[in-house]
Amino acid sequence: MRSVGLTDIGRVRAENQDALVADGPLLAVADGMGGHACGARAAKAAVDAVRHNVSADKRRPKSAINRAFIRANRAIREISADEGHERMGTTLTVASVQNGIVWIGHVGDSRAYLLRDGQLSQLTTDHSLVGELVRSGQLSPDKARSHPKRNVITRAVGTDQQIRPDIFSHTVRPGARLILCSDGLTGGVDDRQLAELASTKRPAQAVATKLVEAANRAGGTDNITVVIGDIETVEPPSRSRAALFVVAAIVLTALAVGGADYWLDNNYYLTIFQGQVGINRGLPAEPFGFKLGHFDRRTSIKIKDLPDYYVERLEQEMVVGDTDRLKEVLADLGDLAERAR
Ligand code: MN
Repeated sequence: MRSVGLTDIGRVRAENQDALVADGPLLAVADGMGGHACGARAAKAAVDAVRHNVSADKRRPKSAINRAFIRANRAIREISADEGHERMGTTLTVASVQNGIVWIGHVGDSRAYLLRDGQLSQLTTDHSLVGELVRSGQLSPDKARSHPKRNVITRAVGTDQQIRPDIFSHTVRPGARLILCSDGLTGGVDDRQLAELASTKRPAQAVATKLVEAANRAGGTDNITVVIGDIETVEPPSRSRAALFVVAAIVLTALAVGGADYWLDNNYYLTIFQGQVGINRGLPAEPFGFKLGHFDRRTSIKIKDLPDYYVERLEQEMVVGDTDRLKEVLADLGDLAERAR
């Protein structure tokens, strides 16, 4: 996946306290707060935690993102405690794209949008005073952008001992464009204008430049940060049938020698069973007529609640690995299914 990022100080602020990550399938925006370089340091600590934790664990995007938030929160609290700064914190919005799914982690009033077929949808919920007023119908989105208390955020990274990030996933298809931004952009550019300027007909870099220009034209009262990721192709499943056959042949050889029974019994693959995800032990192969797998049990996860990408993998029998890996995969599928309902 290709991504680009652009940050600009704006036309009023003395310092840029935003930070970003635009590293292939990993995107993030942090908007720091606190005087005397504190905001910039908080934002930097947050994006560093994202780079270290989310890049390092590609297999479990949800727990990696959660860990990034916990580590970022701790790092910022340590800096502010050491140096006696109060109210040092940051917003943090993260997007990690894998296999046609984007996992989002979010705290604060930076935003993640998805642009697809000209339709713009905001994926995140603003954790801000005006955001709550808009959601409860007491304020219009337009009035919110000029409200005197528009900068008051209700959740931040680094300000409290406990951190409560929103973490969720969304299916993304080739051709879709993800846009992450700080409130310096959305304060000057409304959703209609954003959808127009960010059109997927324009290259991402040109769009980022145009968006920053538009926010500056609208006053540039805050730091402006834009990160754009274009979904190109969905990577194929990691294990091909050919590779599986090789594994099966090795297992069969091992069986002949003895000792592979245990391994087979603790290796799992998933299939579709009566409209639900079924758990099987062994391997979904019958080299030379030897059956190496058998049905074990059915889960409560319904196929109709899963994204197409996973349905296709399940149709082809999805090898997952040992008990620990099975638990992780089922937890992720359960989350995806729950979100679809
Ligand atoms: Mn800001």
